[in-house]
Amino acid sequence: MTRFSELGLAPQLQSTLDSLGYQEATAIQAKAIPLVLKGRDLMAAAQTGTGKTAAFTLPLLEKLSIGGKAGSNAVRALILVPTRELAEQVMQAVQKYTGELPLRSYAVYGGVSINPQMMAMRKGMDILVATPGRLLDLYRNNAVKFSELQYLVLDEADRMLDLGFAGELDEIFCAIPRKRQTLLFSATFSQRVKDMAAMMLRDPLSVEVSAPNSAADTLQQWLIPLDKKRKTECLQQLVSRNAGKQILIFVKTRKSVDELENLFIADGLSVAGIHGEKSQAARMNAMQSFKSSEVQLLIATDVAARGLDVEELPLVINLELPVNAEDYIHRIGRSGRKGNTGEAISLVCADEVQQLATIENMLGQLIERRPQPDFEATHKVPETALGGIIVKKPKKEKKKLIPGSGNSMANAARKPANSRSGSGLRMFDHSEEGGTKSAGNRPDRRRPRKKK
Ligand code: ADP
Ligand code: MG
Repeated sequence: MTRFSELGLAPQLQSTLDSLGYQEATAIQAKAIPLVLKGRDLMAAAQTGTGKTAAFTLPLLEKLSIGGKAGSNAVRALILVPTRELAEQVMQAVQKYTGELPLRSYAVYGGVSINPQMMAMRKGMDILVATPGRLLDLYRNNAVKFSELQYLVLDEADRMLDLGFAGELDEIFCAIPRKRQTLLFSATFSQRVKDMAAMMLRDPLSVEVSAPNSAADTLQQWLIPLDKKRKTECLQQLVSRNAGKQILIFVKTRKSVDELENLFIADGLSVAGIHGEKSQAARMNAMQSFKSSEVQLLIATDVAARGLDVEELPLVINLELPVNAEDYIHRIGRSGRKGNTGEAISLVCADEVQQLATIENMLGQLIERRPQPDFEATHKVPETALGGIIVKKPKKEKKKLIPGSGNSMANAARKPANSRSGSGLRMFDHSEEGGTKSAGNRPDRRRPRKKK
């Protein structure tokens, strides 16, 4: 057990944490805080829901409170995040941890008017939380200056460094001072991202508190093998079996979100939906009403897979497996946080067996199969084994998996689980933090990398 006072934080921060009921530091906090205070660049990996936000925010507050004041439009510490909802959440956490310290913090993201953000930036910010697109818009309008920037944090770092953000991040890196402290935090890191990170960081330390790319131990994961056409019916049954429990349901497309929202409304349930084509007000509303338990169900695309902290969420259901194996860890990591128990159920059909094998390979464990008597699969989901080996492939699948067949889904799935290159397949809904209102909603922002 590590008390915060042992980590070198000032008494004022300690008393804020006491008032929040934080009795001891989590493992990642105990490891990362002293290193950040020492000024080291970090690549820090820890499972979902283990308090990474405080692990980077607390030492930054400590350091920022010692010296200086942000000049007009200047930013002293910048925290980049992949989605608008996460920007809002991280900013709220920063303000909670700031307590009475005289430090200013703010969040900027797309989908809302830029003018209030420009006004707010005039006084300068000690900590700015931002999605990349809107940050660049503000920068190009001279509303944000980086000349005083000393600290850069990439939360959900592997997502920030994948191809979807490459152009924007390049521009940001060109604009910010080279001499700075850089911190990368995530629950998943692929080898590609680790290699990239090594180039951007200065003599970095790597901190890991558990097996890499693993899900929280308090999370029970299992799957139902079934036929694709019966998934919706099975989902309805799962929802009624879990009556009264809050459930986060992940689906692949924006259209499915809308369809399921209507279906569950017709079933008389309280439900909200979130995806990148909804207005920002509707998105914030959906998230807020789910976080405050006003609605029982939230139907979401992967826009809600990362970082969002819902108090004691008991159950996550994947109607389809995500295309990127890492996203599986992030999706299910919305449950089983802070050592609470949680459950994650995936509905898996035969077509998804390669995705399943990739996910299991990354997790280093097979996901328990619990066939449901009412939903016996006529197209059997082939058995998987660790190493991604599929013992029996259905004839139909075989064609898809021929190397070099040009089938992007099959090719991506065949890549090793820890290869981020699978992330080229972002034709579905992902984050949407472009500089303009609509930019993030363009599916082609996540176009697969061209083959050489
Ligand atoms: P992560 O980024 O690792 O997924 P978060 O930073 O979102 O996790 O934190 C998860 C939850 O744990 C939040 O609700 C946060 O308030 C809480 N938390 C963080 N650190 C502590 C602590 N030391 N003691 C108690 N609760 C904590
Ligand atoms: Mg987080």
